[in-house]
Amino acid sequence: MDLIEIMSHLSIPRPNHSPALEETATYIKTTLTDWGVPFIVQQFPLRPYMQLILGIAVLALAVLLLAFVIKKMPVAALVVALAIPLLLMIEFELFVPVVTGVVKKTGENIVVTYTVPNPARELIFAAHYDSKTDFWDHIQRAKIYRFIPAAFILGLALAILIFFTRHHTSGAIIAAILAGILVVYWGLVFLGFGGYIFIPADRQSFGAVDNGTSVTALMVLAKDIHDGKVSLGNSNVTIIFTAGEEVTLQGAHWYVKERFGPDVRPALPTTLVNLELFGQNGPMVYWKKDGVFLKYYDADPELIGRLGAAWTRVSGTAIEPREKITDDAQRFMSAGIPAITIGNAGIPGLGEGGFHSTEDAITRVNTENLALMINALELYTEGYLTK
Ligand SMILES: [Zn+2]
Repeated sequence: MDLIEIMSHLSIPRPNHSPALEETATYIKTTLTDWGVPFIVQQFPLRPYMQLILGIAVLALAVLLLAFVIKKMPVAALVVALAIPLLLMIEFELFVPVVTGVVKKTGENIVVTYTVPNPARELIFAAHYDSKTDFWDHIQRAKIYRFIPAAFILGLALAILIFFTRHHTSGAIIAAILAGILVVYWGLVFLGFGGYIFIPADRQSFGAVDNGTSVTALMVLAKDIHDGKVSLGNSNVTIIFTAGEEVTLQGAHWYVKERFGPDVRPALPTTLVNLELFGQNGPMVYWKKDGVFLKYYDADPELIGRLGAAWTRVSGTAIEPREKITDDAQRFMSAGIPAITIGNAGIPGLGEGGFHSTEDAITRVNTENLALMINALELYTEGYLTK
């Protein structure tokens, strides 16, 4: 199998709002069809501009807050100050669209299913095929986002401050200055959320390691199972290629919601292995925690053990822990499904940095390591034959 050939199709900018997303889905579906791999397509309403719209909304609320502070309207200021964290919480943490549903298109999850006669479990694998370019890199972004809780508190404090100082000029001036600083701050957050619209076409991330290599790995896994190169024993296998991951896990959210629902438990013991930052340099890594905004979930210890053992068998080196990540696995974990996200350390190299920028190009892919990781995934799958 020519991994480079596959990667050449999966190392192009393909953000959710672009036609390249559909072209990439078509490439995956056509190739699976050529290989004889059966799949279904799950369509869902995709909100491709989720972060951009949220960025505009919080900035607009911050400007409103400034206006109410200047006009000395404490109740209105309080309502607006509360609206900012509520909006972010409902959209990012509860996955309920409040403002971001104004622009929608049809998203597609591509789902390959292999079933065995007497299944004892279901092994799910997932990788997202969309890509993203960010205005700030992840280090700059972390420096800005760190102050989000403080900005919430300052907004509320300003509403209270103008209530008590509305008859004092100096207090009102201080409140207005602080509200102005808040507008500047939420402007920086807006750039983090939606500043990608200012980035020219030639500075878009190719999404090679995030997450073209992961998609490649799961395409190969699907083919190898189809070709009888991987024994499934009594494991059903589901392989999901998701869209909308980079706009807050929308494809995975839809898949989990449709399949498991709030009270529907899987019929069989089910686990998820999610792939991110696959096939760059360095050993296999997993992330200890997975979350979006407030709540983070732990990687499943048994999956860490099984995947670590498979990796050690193919490479002779140990799996390494990384701190935390935001990805599709979060949606499965929130539904109570044991899950893990694995990838490669990226060392020597940029490690977990340099993504969502032109530095995530095909030159970053370590093809030998990618082949080893695919091997480890297959060994992991066959590992259930014996225990
Ligand atoms: Zn990713």
